[in-house]
Amino acid sequence: VTATPATAETPPAAPVDAALRAFADAVGAGHVSADEAEVRLAGTATFATARRPVAIVRPGSRAEVQACVRAAAAHGVSVYPVSRGCNWGYGSRVPARDGAVLLSLERLTDIVDFDERLGWAAVEPGVTFRQLDAFLRGRGSRLHLNGPGSTPDASIVGNTLERGVTQGVMPDAAARVGALEVVLADGSVVRTGSSALPGSRAARVHRHGVGPALDGLFLQSSLGIVTEMTVWLSPVPAFHRHFHFVVDEDDGLPAVVDALRSLCMEGTLTTSVALHNDWKVMALTGRYPWAHAAGRTPLPDDLRAGRMAELGGGRWFGEAAVHGPTTAVMEALRSRVSEVLAPLVREVDWSEPNAPGPFFGGDVGHALEQAYWRRPGPLPPDPHPDRDGCGVIWHSPALPFDGDAVLRCVDAAEAVLAAHGFEPTISLQAVSPRCVYAVISILFDRAAPGEDERAVRCHTVLAERLAADGFHPYRLGLLDAGGPSAPDEATRALLHTLRQALDPAGVLAPGRYDFGL
Ligand SMILES: Cc1cc2nc3c(=O)[nH]c(=O)nc-3n(C[C@H](O)[C@H](O)[C@H](O)COP(=O)(O)OP(=O)(O)OC[C@H]3O[C@@H](n4cnc5c(N)ncnc54)[C@H](O)[C@@H]3O)c2cc1C
Repeated sequence: VTATPATAETPPAAPVDAALRAFADAVGAGHVSADEAEVRLAGTATFATARRPVAIVRPGSRAEVQACVRAAAAHGVSVYPVSRGCNWGYGSRVPARDGAVLLSLERLTDIVDFDERLGWAAVEPGVTFRQLDAFLRGRGSRLHLNGPGSTPDASIVGNTLERGVTQGVMPDAAARVGALEVVLADGSVVRTGSSALPGSRAARVHRHGVGPALDGLFLQSSLGIVTEMTVWLSPVPAFHRHFHFVVDEDDGLPAVVDALRSLCMEGTLTTSVALHNDWKVMALTGRYPWAHAAGRTPLPDDLRAGRMAELGGGRWFGEAAVHGPTTAVMEALRSRVSEVLAPLVREVDWSEPNAPGPFFGGDVGHALEQAYWRRPGPLPPDPHPDRDGCGVIWHSPALPFDGDAVLRCVDAAEAVLAAHGFEPTISLQAVSPRCVYAVISILFDRAAPGEDERAVRCHTVLAERLAADGFHPYRLGLLDAGGPSAPDEATRALLHTLRQALDPAGVLAPGRYDFGL
């Protein structure tokens, strides 16, 4: 194997060549690639980036991950770990710094252990949502785990480490994991919570263990490489009903948000609760009408109105579900939801009891299509947003579950996107009775001249405008590095101390969540 040629930004080839030989010794030459086309794709995101990895290494076991980390340290190169690498809209597989070797954990695909009664599965980083679902269905299990809106081929570990969100029960991925197994920068292995207690019978079910909880150190972090994780699974409820509702005007949004909060607080709603604006619904249900728009962007008002009339009209579209162990419990929850929401929304539309849907392990449908919203031409049979030139930048601030705060954030975000010529597609997703994420997307066609630059400018303005108002993202993409959403000085100093203690040479993902240290 040989490295790609050095550029002004990459380190000289000699140490990289030596490192790649050491990686080949560790994992086998067939699992190390510096192939130009492969490396170029791994360095392509859904927005313009200046960086790319120097090579890709694919270890096949935890021992090989340890060997790779030691080889990297010995040769003075850094590694950038990804699990399945579907982090589209936040940076895909592109390393945060130049000169890094992409450590792809896609070959670690074991479902290591499973317990139907206690509802958990221990998985390696390459395990996808689709794979776990097939495993559960194959055993006739009652359990399920929902995946993200992008693809069931994303990894459970990568999604969780980014503290991703899903529909249905337990929408906050980071809230339903424990027992992390982590390779540190010196190649040693640590376990978190009760899995660190020798012989603990609660290793898979007691997240905290004793003493300071260490698991949080490894989520949204570059302090370790997670090689195994235990995820809690939920039983598919015996009875469930999904519901939709429509809010016709922005003015009505705060009262609806406040009503949804009270339904979550009192325990009536325990699934995810989402509200999508009209732009988002258009992007979820179709493609940009290039022919009708005669090439103009953003979408002209008359076409927006026409498309929304086809969809029945409305400004905000809500969805959630109720569930219970008996029909009576479920129906009681249903009447409570209708009683609270009916005066505030156009109508509450209920699915049939136990109708299939995306909330309890069902297919999320064609959500990835939104990445192709402005991309002309048919949707490819095997969509791949990086390869296909889709423009997607997410910016997802965490907000208090409060109607006025939500409207304030939405108004600011819509104004910034419209001013930059993009349709302001926004979803609001409740992750607890106290917190909502505003998931804002800048969707564009990377092939259109000037759009890459305009989208990045739009993101910069959006991030600054929202941060100035106290709305910071729940998760950072590559474009957020060095931006306004960094912790205060005392916290950065603590992170620096930890980084110096665990990885003084900067072997693991330098630049990723290290806030310029
Ligand atoms: C149309 C569309 C819809 C989307 N919908 C959602 C959604 O509903 N919810 C959501 O959360 N996301 C969503 N996403 C974003 C993204 O697709 C998902 O978050 C996806 O799960 C991330 O890919 P992955 O799981 O393969 O993680 P990876 O890309 O493998 O990992 C993500 C990051 O985590 C770190 N990391 C990964 N593995 C390790 C490891 N083993 N050790 C240490 N660090 C590691 C790295 O920094 C890596 O860049 C969407 C994207 C698009 C384009």
